[in-house]
Order: sequence, then structure tokens, then C-alpha cells
Amino acid sequence: MGQNTIPPRIHILAKPAGSACNLNCAYCFYAKKDRLYPGSRMRMNDEVLEQYISQLIALHRSGTVTVAWQGGEPTLMGIDFYRRAIALQEKYCRPGMTFENTIQTNGTLLDDTWCEFLRANDFLVGISLDGPREIHDTYRKDKKGQPTFDRVMRGLRRLQQHGVEYNVLVTVNRTNAQHPREVYRFLRDFVGAPWIQFIPAIERTSNGVVSPFQQGAQVSARSVEPVQWGQFLIAVFDEWVRHDVGKIFVQTFEAAVRNWLGPGSSGMCVFDPVCGQGLALEHNGDLYACDHFVEPGHLLGNIQQQHMAELAGSKKQIKFGRDKLDTLPAFCLECDVRFACHGECPRNRFLKSPDGEPGCNYLCQGYKAFFQHIDKPMQMIAQVMRRGLPADQIMQIMAQADVEQVVASGKIGRNAPCPCGSGLKFKKCHGRGGSVRYN
Ligand code: SF4
Ligand code: SF4
Repeated sequence: MGQNTIPPRIHILAKPAGSACNLNCAYCFYAKKDRLYPGSRMRMNDEVLEQYISQLIALHRSGTVTVAWQGGEPTLMGIDFYRRAIALQEKYCRPGMTFENTIQTNGTLLDDTWCEFLRANDFLVGISLDGPREIHDTYRKDKKGQPTFDRVMRGLRRLQQHGVEYNVLVTVNRTNAQHPREVYRFLRDFVGAPWIQFIPAIERTSNGVVSPFQQGAQVSARSVEPVQWGQFLIAVFDEWVRHDVGKIFVQTFEAAVRNWLGPGSSGMCVFDPVCGQGLALEHNGDLYACDHFVEPGHLLGNIQQQHMAELAGSKKQIKFGRDKLDTLPAFCLECDVRFACHGECPRNRFLKSPDGEPGCNYLCQGYKAFFQHIDKPMQMIAQVMRRGLPADQIMQIMAQADVEQVVASGKIGRNAPCPCGSGLKFKKCHGRGGSVRYN
């Protein structure tokens, strides 16, 4: 089955309930995919499930197989579907092989039975939550237009009570992007989230209509703006790098650290030079090039007719992944932060560069500002890590730099809060004894 063409790290996002969901979030790009399968119930049947698990295991050369469930809303399948999936993993498991099941959910259907099952089978659960109540409820509503914050938080608290491993996925849109610190502090201090992902909400439009596919050179009014996206990341980074390194894991920052350490995988396809190793499986066995390209032009085939290994290693898919690099405009090729950005995701490359070349990333302005802003601290983190020291030492370095800057400006009173962020008065902390004390 052409094993030699399969990329070494392959990741499939399975959508057992297709685009079906119990909610109706305003900017959900999955919901618009239902026109690909008109009249379908959008449920993966047992034949497709068995094909999927057996083929996934067959194409894996490594010992750990990640089985990722996504939607729509994958909990709509019911627990028994996942019990059968686990049984199939046991049936086809090869010696020494282990499984990591992950599931991305809105959390609203998670009850104690679900949580017991997820805990017992070591699922990693991703919860979609956009921030505190008013912010979250701006766009995340149910089919009756009712807010969903309370239901999401109830599910999340249940996961915590049952000790289920989870992370939070925040869709950054034009509203919550205006409140970066509020969103971040809410997740850190109120939710207690240890792992956070920020995903930019970008809905492309043509003639004012949101496109179900990657078409159109305008964006909807809900979409995050490029500069806003950069400012959001910068504000969260500035808080994180001073207080939370080693305690809170923000996926974008972790990927940046890897890229500052040197060439290799960043852990996020969008910040790698090439992609094409994260495919999407629809409920009926159709395999697509990427979760963001579930559209006719990027359909690779159906796993009931052709093995997933052949489809994932096909010329078409390899070209898809290489195109990320091969189609970079000169503007990116000459960019000083290209090593960290790599032109981000091709789905967002729908603008022209200042010199008129197509393929410029919609978020470019934001990314340039963000990566340039974090350059110094990232260099320091990389230096600390290369010496074998923990990355959290950067927090002391930042505190010292902040104090030096404020003292040099001569604008700090003895009773003012110390700029190192300790919460103490300056005179009781770095300004103790009338002279500046450094860590
Ligand atoms: S198209 Fe974008 S999201 Fe899809 S694999 Fe490539 S970089 Fe990742
Ligand atoms: S910051 Fe802009 S120019 Fe630089 S690599 Fe990213 S998208 Fe390209």
C-alpha cells in the first residue's frame, strides 16, 4: 500500500458526526460544510469506524497512535460509539502500541457518565470557550439563540471534578480580541486552565456572503483584524512571560520557543515550513487534505475504497503540503521573522503583498508585530534552555529588566507597586534600602 510514501508523522482529525452540532456558534466554519452532504444524518457507521481504526493503526510506524475526534460536536455520537472505538483499538493493537484519544467538544453534553468514561480511557478533552460570560456568549449561542456559557462551564467543571485531562481552545474574534488580559486572566485564574490554544476566527466572504470554502478576499465583521490579532498575542505574551512560564502552556508560545531553538517541528502545522500531515476524515469515510480544507478540491478519496495510507501519501497530498513553502510570496521569503511564521496557514493567504504579489497572509501585520515583539525574550528563553536550565528563569530576567526600565525613567515612587509584579510596594521590594535591588 505504498508505505514508503507515508509521511512519518500523520495526524487524522475524525469527524464522526460530520458538521452536526447541538449549538449554533455564529462563526462556526464546520456548520457551513453540511452542504457537502445534503440529506445525510451525519453519523459515522460501524463499517467506516472499523476501517478508520484498522487503517490508522496499520499506517502508524510509531508506538503511540493519536486518535483525534472532532466535530461538529463529536459527543452527539453518544458514549457507545466511543466504547466501540476503544474496543477496535484493542482489537487491532500491535504489541507495544499505545493510544491517545483526544476529543474537541463544546462541553455542553458532558455529564458524570461521560466524564467517568473519558477519565477511564485517558481522553484528552479540548473545550471551546471564548472568555468570561459576556464575551463567550457574544457568538457562542445555541440553536434557539440562547447563551451557552453556563452549560460549557458546567461541563468543564465536571471534567475537573473527575480529573479528566483537558485544555481550552479560544476562538479569537473581533470582540474578545479587544480584551486579551481579561480573557487570559479569566482562563488562568477563574477556570484554572493549564493548556490554552488561541485560534484566529477568520470568515472569508465574497460579496458580503460568508463562503463555506476557502474563497473570497474580504472577511466578515466578526473576524479578528490583523493588527488586533497581533496586539492580542502581544498582551497575553507580556503577561505570560512575566508570571506564568512553566505553569501555563499557551500553544502559540510553545511553538515559538521551538522555532527560536532552531529548525525542526514547532508542534503547530501553521508555524512549520511545510504541512499536509494533518488530514480530516468525514463521517462517511471521505478523507480531505486538512480540517480547514474540507471542500471538493481537496478531497483525496474515501477510505472504504482506498487505504488511508495511500491517500495520505498520495502525490496530491504531498503537493498540498509542499505548496505551503513553494507558494510563499517574496514578501515572506525576505521577512525577518519567517523562521517563526513561515507564512502561517495557506488558508489565510488571500491578500496581495505591498508590491502586489498574491498569496500574502491576511494576518501578516499582526504576526510581524508579534514575532518582532517577542524576539528578545524568546532569544533569552532559548539561551536559558540551551544551558539546560528551566525556561521559567526568564521571569526573573524580565522582572529585572522591568525594574531597570522604570527606575531609569525616574517615574517610580517609593510607595508605588514594584514593577517586578510581586504585588509589594517598591520600597519593600526592589527599591528596598533606598537602592535598587535586583534578583
Ligand atoms: S493548510 Fe493550514 S491548518 Fe491545514 S495543515 Fe496546512 S498549515 Fe495546517
Ligand atoms: S510575518 Fe508576514 S511576511 Fe513574515 S513570514 Fe509571516 S506572513 Fe510572511
